[in-house]
Amino acid sequence: MISHSAHVVIVGSGMGGGTLAWGLAQRGIETLVLERGGILPREPENWSARAVFVERRYKPSETWLDDDGNEFHPGVHYLVGGNTKVYGASLPRLRERDLGQTHYPSGTSPAWPFTYDDLEPYYTQAESLYRVHGSVGEDPTEPWRSRPYPYPALAHEPYVAETMLRLAEQGLHPSSTAMGIDVRPGGTCVRCQTCDGFPCRLGAKSDAETCALGPAVAGGSVRLLTGARVRRVELDGSGRVARLVGDIEGEPFEVTGGMFVLSAGAANSAALLLASRSEARPTGVANSSGLVGRNYMVHNNTHLAAVDPRRRNDVVFQKTMAVNDFYHDLGDGHPGGTIQLIGKVQGSMMKTQATRAPLSLLNRMADRSVELLVMSEDLPSVHNRVTVGSDGRIQVSWRRTNYDRHEALLKTAKSVLRKAGYRGIFEQRFGIDMNSHMCGTAAAGHDPATSVLDPWCRSHDVPNLFVVDSSFFPSSGAQNPALTIAAQALRVAEETDWDVRV
Ligand SMILES: Cc1cc2nc3c(=O)[nH]c(=O)nc-3n(C[C@H](O)[C@H](O)[C@H](O)COP(=O)(O)OP(=O)(O)OC[C@H]3O[C@@H](n4cnc5c(N)ncnc54)[C@H](O)[C@@H]3O)c2cc1C
Ligand code: SF4
Repeated sequence: MISHSAHVVIVGSGMGGGTLAWGLAQRGIETLVLERGGILPREPENWSARAVFVERRYKPSETWLDDDGNEFHPGVHYLVGGNTKVYGASLPRLRERDLGQTHYPSGTSPAWPFTYDDLEPYYTQAESLYRVHGSVGEDPTEPWRSRPYPYPALAHEPYVAETMLRLAEQGLHPSSTAMGIDVRPGGTCVRCQTCDGFPCRLGAKSDAETCALGPAVAGGSVRLLTGARVRRVELDGSGRVARLVGDIEGEPFEVTGGMFVLSAGAANSAALLLASRSEARPTGVANSSGLVGRNYMVHNNTHLAAVDPRRRNDVVFQKTMAVNDFYHDLGDGHPGGTIQLIGKVQGSMMKTQATRAPLSLLNRMADRSVELLVMSEDLPSVHNRVTVGSDGRIQVSWRRTNYDRHEALLKTAKSVLRKAGYRGIFEQRFGIDMNSHMCGTAAAGHDPATSVLDPWCRSHDVPNLFVVDSSFFPSSGAQNPALTIAAQALRVAEETDWDVRV
């Protein structure tokens, strides 16, 4: 058995774990990061739509099960940097109201155990760490900020600028997307078409490896062990974590330490706690509330491809604009959500869904289409949950929640696009496998009976155990989650007394 030890041990190196490691490095705290994946190679395939989307080169072969026992390929990437290695780098903040209680016709989005004002200084830090570009004063829903964005908003290419004009003529306020890519004098980004969903061959995307974990390891106090899959969290007689056990390339290992942090992503962190059940804790570790794995959320998302046959879309970097006019009020007194451009879709990427359509037709369509993501909030439900079989396999029970709001936002989005000249609109609604925004499976709260973690992501039950990834979200809001995960990781790093043995 291989043995390791560190003061703080982090499981997973994605947005939560990588950012936390950076925060701990600023305090000089000895940290070991255990990551089941390896370092993603920089290679020509990074920017090949075929390799990334058709051959799924950077995704694990692992499948999960749905409620009926059907297999699906989840939206996870087991890599140093986690899902951020391929993410779209759109890094908006949640709005103040997202952290409060929101009432919808079909349910309630619960309040977070801290406010936007508590998180704001860490949003500022996270924007600086992840080199976020943006502008203030365009978006009617933007939350208050103590500092301007570290970098100006990305320029809109002419096709996008023209689309924005057509939206503004309808009284809307199209605004710049907050983006984390390295565009600045001397920056390494070349503004290519293969960014959203692809790894960056130049290391210019602000992912957790490039911006956080890499610099943390270079500082000397943080070590990284790759290929190290943690399988169990083991407690001692006093109810503290004694060690983690797992394997590296088939070789068993154990890791001891002072504090332990799970940052394996919302499904895997929950699965790890549930799989650590024992005679003394038959429902798993840190699960006295019975809520570990429950309240799984993913956002209600739909991709739209809107075609204006009269306009050729020659854009290279498309993801620069969002419309948030319907975020808090869709015109009926209830929130709608956000509508945002995504990276330019190529015909071969459409083929993964439209399998029977000829590639030449899809390419012709892609020449004249613009692609968007319509995103609205889903609600926590104890029936939507991650469980784990005796073989360790993840099962996800999931039914859409709050979907009437999504339908309403979709209808509005299509109407607005039609008025802007888009005659054909095609949609792809996200299913159980498109779960890249998953969160909520170990919700933070004040009350140990109704939450798994305290407001600083520490387990209510196990004093030296934390979960610092998207699992802690008590509600999902309707903005992309990564900057909020990073901000909370920085808050936990700074506001926790890591030196005191609890
Ligand atoms: C294609 C795509 C596009 C996206 N675009 C955006 C976007 O534009 N903006 C945005 O905000 N969000 C985006 N997201 C979502 C964003 O990437 C995630 O919300 C974020 O990365 C989640 O952070 P996390 O720390 O919870 O998990 P992850 O970043 O997934 O990290 C989890 C890590 O834990 C490791 N791990 C898992 N299990 C174990 C184990 N047992 N032992 C050891 N290690 C383990 C994994 O390998 C991984 O490295 C996108 C995601 C995808 C897939
Ligand atoms: S747009 Fe920039 S950050 Fe994105 S993949 Fe291309 S070079 Fe990398």
